[in-house]
Amino acid sequence: MKTHAPKGTYDLLPENASRWRYLENQIHKIFREYGFGEVRTPIFEHTELFQRGIGETTDIVEKEMFTFSDRGDRSITLRPEGTASVVRAFIEHNLAGPGAMAKLYYLGPMFRCEAPQAGRFRQFVQFGAETLGSNDPRVDAEIIALAVNFYRRLGIDDLDINLNSIGCPQCRPAYRQRLLEHLKPRAAQMCPNCQRRLERNPLRLLDCKNTTCQQLTVDIPLITETLCDDCGSHFEKLRQLLDSTGINYRINPRLVRGFDYYTKTVFEILAGDLGAQNALCGGGRYDGLVEMCGGKPTPGIGFAAGMERLMMVLEARQLLPEIDDRPHLYLAPLGEEAQQIIFPLCIRLRESGWIVETDLQGKSLKAQMKVADKLGARLTGVIGEDEYRAGKILMRNMETGEQELIDLAALDEYLEKVLRRR
Ligand code: AMP
Repeated sequence: MKTHAPKGTYDLLPENASRWRYLENQIHKIFREYGFGEVRTPIFEHTELFQRGIGETTDIVEKEMFTFSDRGDRSITLRPEGTASVVRAFIEHNLAGPGAMAKLYYLGPMFRCEAPQAGRFRQFVQFGAETLGSNDPRVDAEIIALAVNFYRRLGIDDLDINLNSIGCPQCRPAYRQRLLEHLKPRAAQMCPNCQRRLERNPLRLLDCKNTTCQQLTVDIPLITETLCDDCGSHFEKLRQLLDSTGINYRINPRLVRGFDYYTKTVFEILAGDLGAQNALCGGGRYDGLVEMCGGKPTPGIGFAAGMERLMMVLEARQLLPEIDDRPHLYLAPLGEEAQQIIFPLCIRLRESGWIVETDLQGKSLKAQMKVADKLGARLTGVIGEDEYRAGKILMRNMETGEQELIDLAALDEYLEKVLRRR
């Protein structure tokens, strides 16, 4: 029986893997420039971390986690997002020295048991950043600028940047109450999901995709009108900072995001060409999360971005650079004696930095040339019986078709002369 990769997962094959590596390098580069240090946390954590950290009423915790018991009967969950783990590591390693700030980033696979569709997988890769230890709006602006400039650098400059403030534990309960007063009489018309969430998390109704639910919330009071002084002035300062860096956002009062931990700032960056799953990244401030996870009260803000969706946009817009992984040289031995010479030669040339391929199956010359051609080798070197005896190698330039017989001892010089190292 043939086994397939599980639903919602995919294999990254060599050609695509090199594109991913390119993108990963760009990610590491921008985070370094903005002063973030990388953290690599485990792929799985104790389930309670996500229950506490993400929130019991979220879609993720309610129905999307891959949770299982390990052999010691502990409940384990494959991480569905990165923030809770980074916060756990921040607390566990005591990264909050007195007055210290931590700027951390991550890049790695996340797991959610969602219905797969274009741009939505069950194992997917996210990169993201968290800044812990400051409630200054400059920190919010820095995180947003980093995300926006990352996409701009890659050539995506028509971003739809959505910004909102969802208040704090001081001002949100009053808004929640007003919202409930508006929504409760309309409960019967809502989708089952919103009916269920109405009492527990009415803010989530604002971003329900169901058209009836959207109509029911058209005339609801906006949270931006009921922010307390602190949240209001934070939001105002953030907007001024973003304006000062030339970032064109729009205020979207319906943006609430799917996590319980957010306070004040929330944002999402969309790309028009992604269809239904159009969010490239999303994030927000979470001033209560560290304390909720057992640490000292520490403000924080972060974002998470999807790699697959970004790749889809870059591919569709042909924004990926041509990556040249072709061999410099294909070495074709004919006969056993030639094989004996070529094998160590191949290893030696690789050790001096050339990309070298050779035949490991005893193929005919014709078949070997075919392989060299398919691999896109720039040069092919043939050693048959005659060349072997004369200490020579027949070099063929695969682009021009020119051939010349050179001394084996002079091969290094020849390569330096003909090829430019990559
Ligand atoms: P979230 O952690 O849900 O805020 O998602 C942040 C970003 O991660 C989204 O904007 C997507 O780009 C990406 N993402 C989230 N869930 C998935 C998924 N199931 N498959 C692929 N990408 C995802």
